[in-house]
Amino acid sequence: LSDKFESALRKLSGQGKISESNVREAMEDVRTALLEADVHYEVAEQFIESVQQKALGQEVLAAVKPGEQMIKIVHDELVTLFGGQPIVDKEDAVRPEEPPLMYVDPGPTVIMMSGLQGSGKTTTCGKLAGYLKKRGKKVMLVAADLQRPAAVHQLEVLSKQVEDEVEGNGRVSFYSEPDKVAEYGKAVGAAVKVCRNAVEAGRKAAVDVVILDTAGRLHVNDSLMGELRQVASAVNPHQIMLVIDAMTGQDAVNSAKAFNEQLELDGVIITKFDSDTRGGAALSVKQITGKPIKFIGTGERIDALEEFHARRIAGRILGMGDVVSLVEKAQEQVSEEEAMALQEKMAKGKMTMDDFLVQLKRIRKMGSMKSLLGLLPGIGNQLKDLPIDDKQIDRTEAIIQSMTKEERGNEDELTNSRRRRIARGSGTDQRDVSQLVKGFEMVGTMSKQLSGMGGVSRMKALAG
Ligand code: GDP
Ligand code: MG
Repeated sequence: LSDKFESALRKLSGQGKISESNVREAMEDVRTALLEADVHYEVAEQFIESVQQKALGQEVLAAVKPGEQMIKIVHDELVTLFGGQPIVDKEDAVRPEEPPLMYVDPGPTVIMMSGLQGSGKTTTCGKLAGYLKKRGKKVMLVAADLQRPAAVHQLEVLSKQVEDEVEGNGRVSFYSEPDKVAEYGKAVGAAVKVCRNAVEAGRKAAVDVVILDTAGRLHVNDSLMGELRQVASAVNPHQIMLVIDAMTGQDAVNSAKAFNEQLELDGVIITKFDSDTRGGAALSVKQITGKPIKFIGTGERIDALEEFHARRIAGRILGMGDVVSLVEKAQEQVSEEEAMALQEKMAKGKMTMDDFLVQLKRIRKMGSMKSLLGLLPGIGNQLKDLPIDDKQIDRTEAIIQSMTKEERGNEDELTNSRRRRIARGSGTDQRDVSQLVKGFEMVGTMSKQLSGMGGVSRMKALAG
């Protein structure tokens, strides 16, 4: 989707002056891109209509940089489509977006997950528990999917994994009633009982958030809905989340519609956002159901969950990268001050090898390098297919560690004989050293270029 959008808009931005026929032509390309990405037909039509109306107004055609103006219009329209608020004035830019979860006081806040089988409910329960643990919450995961024997065990394993692996001041516990698991024939009544008991247990244990992992079926059917409705009316969850799989295209939209008619949904979580090329369907969900997207799942790992921010996703789709998400991810490891300092250095092209080394170590901690690279503006798309592995990070670390302080601060110091010495010291070859230096210089140039166009700060303003 991103590529198509970029090329449609690039045509426009290359031109000094935009005519009505240019705009119409570009919008045809955008329409095709949307439909190919499986965006719901009516949603795509509305989108094009609305962009065209704004673009054909006098202002854009007369603007100094009509191409940029167009991008801003498309961006804002995407933001609106995703249920966000575009930035119209300075105040908007600083106004925080609504947090994805709200907590009740006194607790526990009860969150109920719903969705088709395989949509990613159980995995997402684990990810949410991790998200909450990082934020200091005491969480209880409840195995209320009694339809499949493996489901209870899967959640138990996940909750242990989160408790052991995710750092944070919170805690994650697990609740199940093993004897109920045997009652598969009467699982409906049993799930209701388990949930009711679990909320009570959560209250006694003074947990902050109780997450109910309910059963899914392969298709929306009455008995699934019946069970979910019974659970919902028995425990009155504060938030009912629908989990949908971005890869299932229009089916995701259809099931969202069906769930929305049967349950009082509060929000939607879209999983497998990493692996889809047709995310458009899922992105029609807000328009079709009127319910906000709260989170997106971006991988199988326990930390692959992001808050959904309309402005950021719109920016990502338009190929503007996603500086804000990147900075936020880094912030989980780095203090704000550090992040700002680094951003400034990068903007000035003054990042040193030492800074780079620190970043590498953090990146490794942060998880998949590729998913991070995908977030970088501009270079993300080109770099993300490169085979990058942990071994290479090891080599890079070794090389930088073999450099002297002066060499780390200024690549110009790196003469051939010094490169040979560094290669020997780090157990690599001179070619590896040269490659690193070249790559490093490239990043430097690119960040300078970015800041030249107003770079990071401009993109931040756009991306929210
Ligand atoms: P449930 O039946 O709804 O509980 O679904 P599960 O949580 O068991 O997940 C089904 C499959 O989807 C598992 O193999 C998960 O690893 C995978 N999965 C879940 N979320 C994501 C995601 O965000 N990205 C990717 N790539 N896989 C996911
Ligand atoms: Mg499950």
